[in-house]
Amino acid sequence: MPSSLAARSLRSVWHPCTQMKLHEAQPPVAIARAQGPWLEDVDGKRYLDAISSWWVNLFGHGHPHIKAALADQLERLDHVMLAGFTHAPVVELSERLGRLTGLGHAFYGSDGASATEIALKMSAHFWRNSGRPAKSRFVGLAGGYHGETVGALAVTDIAVFREAYAPLVRLAATVPSPDARSARAGESAADVARRSAAALEHWLAEHHEETAALIVEPLVQCAAGFAMHDPEYLRLARALCDRFEVHLVADEIATGFGRTGTLFAHQQAGILPDFICLSKGLTGGTMALSAVLTTDTVFEAFYDDEVARGFLHSHSYTGNPLACRAALATLEIFEQEDVLARNESLARSLDEALLPLSRHPRVRHARHLGMLWAWDVETQLPDFAARYHRHAMDHGVLLRPIGRTLYVMPPYVLDEPAVQWLAQGAQAALAATLAQEGAA
Ligand SMILES: *Cc1c(COP(=O)(O)O)cnc(C)c1O
Repeated sequence: MPSSLAARSLRSVWHPCTQMKLHEAQPPVAIARAQGPWLEDVDGKRYLDAISSWWVNLFGHGHPHIKAALADQLERLDHVMLAGFTHAPVVELSERLGRLTGLGHAFYGSDGASATEIALKMSAHFWRNSGRPAKSRFVGLAGGYHGETVGALAVTDIAVFREAYAPLVRLAATVPSPDARSARAGESAADVARRSAAALEHWLAEHHEETAALIVEPLVQCAAGFAMHDPEYLRLARALCDRFEVHLVADEIATGFGRTGTLFAHQQAGILPDFICLSKGLTGGTMALSAVLTTDTVFEAFYDDEVARGFLHSHSYTGNPLACRAALATLEIFEQEDVLARNESLARSLDEALLPLSRHPRVRHARHLGMLWAWDVETQLPDFAARYHRHAMDHGVLLRPIGRTLYVMPPYVLDEPAVQWLAQGAQAALAATLAQEGAA
């Protein structure tokens, strides 16, 4: 029986990333409250949020420090437009992000896709302001995901999100992904990185005159099914971008804020991108906010007496004070609680608890980086992901495979019972799903 909330939702709410007709068989789950890593539905059933509510939540739901910061901010200033005005939360956040990344100019949007749009527009406009308007195209990696607005779809190489809108999209070029799973016999992940970088070099040699930027998800292409690559690729890509005068955009929307073990994934390669896109974990999973960080060089190319040489992009909620305050509170937690070090020990206990999955006879390419785990399941079930999701929910765990790739991206606040709950639920759901193969 769907709750009445679920039934009303199906009449009035158009849910994201969803074929609504499938809800005839499986109504949406109405969530009443959440605390820490747990979601609770209207009937009181609890689910461990093992994918951080679509990759946004870092420190569990209702974290007291973020809540207090938001309540305090609400008393002072809810919102003011950011054109012609400024406020303490946006200034402090920009300064802090500048110190953390080395990129000292922050432009704000509300979602990840708008950050992609901002970075691409800024890059092309930089080249135009620099007297090279022909540099207006983009290149991305095969299987890349950078959001689903029409501009972002140009660099999102996932057919199911793009096909219906193909006539609307000015498609970017794609070069081979350095996905370590594509290693040939005897090749290491670093070898794959070098082989893929050679393909990038070949492409740039031919097309750099019309190319503004290369956009990459550093270390992990999450939406592609957690394709991981060696940091060597980022070092080589950085060098190639320098050589061919093409911007490097690091889309850290999913990989940022400790997911890969470092605060930002590109830091593991020791490189500095020209643009960094942030969202998702930026506010700890509480408010919609995105940011694009860039260099003095880019900023200065727009600084002029002529208005039209400025970056005239805007969103109504640009730099919303509440969202910026939530982001500041999130960064304070990183600093005060030594989160990255604490995550190392949490990752060890999760890794151990998840070992039976990694060693499961039907699992290929078990992989782990920082606080991310993924496994490719060998199965004939065409609807493996949907079935697995339902079984996991039955076992009190929110997991949503991508195709046949099962992954875990948990918030950083799991105690030992929660770790066990997650691992046991994930395993039980796999057994239950695979048991249906014969019947399917
Ligand atoms: C989720 C995601 C986006 C898009 O963010 P939205 O807030 O969903 O628009 C862009 N890039 C990457 C790498 C993402 O994972």
